[in-house]
Amino acid sequence: GLNITAVGKGFGPVQVLRDVSLSVPRGAFHTLLGPSGSGKTTLLKIVAGFTPADSGAVTLAGRAITDMPPEHRNIGVVFQHYALFPHMSVTENIGFGLKMRGVAKAERAARVEEVLRLVRMTGFGHRKPAALSGGQQQRVALARALVIKPQLLLLDEPLSALDRKVRQEVREELKRIQAETGVTTVMVTHDQEEALFLADRVLVLEGGALRQQGAPADIYGNPADEFVAGFLGAIN
Ligand code: ATP
Repeated sequence: GLNITAVGKGFGPVQVLRDVSLSVPRGAFHTLLGPSGSGKTTLLKIVAGFTPADSGAVTLAGRAITDMPPEHRNIGVVFQHYALFPHMSVTENIGFGLKMRGVAKAERAARVEEVLRLVRMTGFGHRKPAALSGGQQQRVALARALVIKPQLLLLDEPLSALDRKVRQEVREELKRIQAETGVTTVMVTHDQEEALFLADRVLVLEGGALRQQGAPADIYGNPADEFVAGFLGAIN
């Protein structure tokens, strides 16, 4: 699993994360909720290795990864602003990370086919992203994250750009795929219903500190303080 211990981060005078500690057991699906600016994306970026922490430590599957470059961490990411490469086909998009890791062409092709099947996009490999719907693009982004067989999947609002109906479909697909692969997952979302449907545990971040964590029913039924209650009410 993932262990974050006393992680702190500031940008200039602004303290964005304060002593954040949390654990995600292997195979679990946790969601991270919190108002805009609470530090959710920054926390995921630190775990992914895109941003260095000022203090604290991160371990994945028992290995310290705090100072490892991102490509050495076995982590798949789907970030809102981490779009598919428009000039590459679906197959090339998904195979890119494998190519960077020196995986031979024949194995790349087999692995790409395997994940396309997993996300139910078999037959779309030759298309360019622009020729896919929003929901299909997000499935491809998910396939691209999963093709490296990551030990951890980080999702930052992956469904937020989709309309309601498609969002529901991709949400169900995501749940199935996570269960099928058993990949440890942390997902940032603003959508309470989504968190409730997907997560076995919800973490609430505010002002860079972890306010509460628990099973979705516990959080909604028994918010730890007025802030959490108010926040959950406000986004309802
Ligand atoms: P949202 O829900 O709006 O995406 P968030 O909870 O993900 O918000 P972060 O994106 O982690 O929040 O940002 C937390 C704070 O850190 C914000 O005040 C933001 O302006 C600040 N911040 C983030 N990245 C940088 C940066 N590179 N330089 C300076 N400040 C930053």
